[in-house]
Amino acid sequence: MTEGRCLCGTVRFEIDGPFSSMLHCHCSMCRKHHGTAFATFVAAPLAGFRFVAGEESIAKYDSSPGFHRSFCKVCGSVLPEGMPAIGLVVCPAGDLDGDLGIEPQMHMFTGSKAAWYEITDGLPQHEEYPPQFGMQGTARSKVETHGDAAQGSCLCGGVAYEVTGTPLRFYYCHCSRCRHARSAQHAANIFYRADGFRWVRGADLVQDYQLSGAQFFGVAFCRRCGSKVPRVSVERGVVNVPAGSLNNDPGIRAQAHIFVDSKAPWDRITDSIPQFTEMPPRR
Ligand SMILES: [Zn+2]
Ligand SMILES: [Zn+2]
Ligand SMILES: [Zn+2]
Repeated sequence: MTEGRCLCGTVRFEIDGPFSSMLHCHCSMCRKHHGTAFATFVAAPLAGFRFVAGEESIAKYDSSPGFHRSFCKVCGSVLPEGMPAIGLVVCPAGDLDGDLGIEPQMHMFTGSKAAWYEITDGLPQHEEYPPQFGMQGTARSKVETHGDAAQGSCLCGGVAYEVTGTPLRFYYCHCSRCRHARSAQHAANIFYRADGFRWVRGADLVQDYQLSGAQFFGVAFCRRCGSKVPRVSVERGVVNVPAGSLNNDPGIRAQAHIFVDSKAPWDRITDSIPQFTEMPPRR
């Protein structure tokens, strides 16, 4: 039995397993909902799945006809979806701790992949759904470019922002907090100076969650759709932009994998980006 939870711990659930599939999805909806390069999902029999706490704190957003995406109202973590028609529960792997008895098998919706992310692991890649799913894909996302500001928005379109200035750093963080905050294999965070950042619309829709006991760790998300959006740290004068929320190519590429000592057992780093056990030394 595998236990899962959102970042704040309000929503908890159990999955008996076994996990039958594990895949990475690069579609623009997953990238925005999680704020990362891609989402990773595991599937298991629905009969062996149950919520054990916090079901009343789950919000749902209808992302396409007949399909919704769930998230925790308090912290924004993406939550499992039961799919009665196929008898499966589909769960973001970042919600789960420990060895899952399965490893990633393929990438899907690589036709919508972020320009700043390179796939290097040699797993099969499908432009949309893999053929064995027998499903039609949705429209592919287009990368928009306007001037030199990095621009982004949430899945429902209620929140939009832009940020100018040179990015300070771009890290893939594998720590347990980021895995639960993004419900993903790792976070993809680009930091800019806060004075170049502005909300274009929907600042009133942004929900902020500060992890208790942590000095700086928190998450900002759209309270309507659950998408991860930038979080401004006034004290530090920086804004953390979840790269998956961007609509255009920020130019910069990831500079480091950080907190790799905390990565998930099924997470294999196969690219040549420098790795640090915790934080890299400050330049
Ligand atoms: Zn939560
Ligand atoms: Zn997806
Ligand atoms: Zn939204």
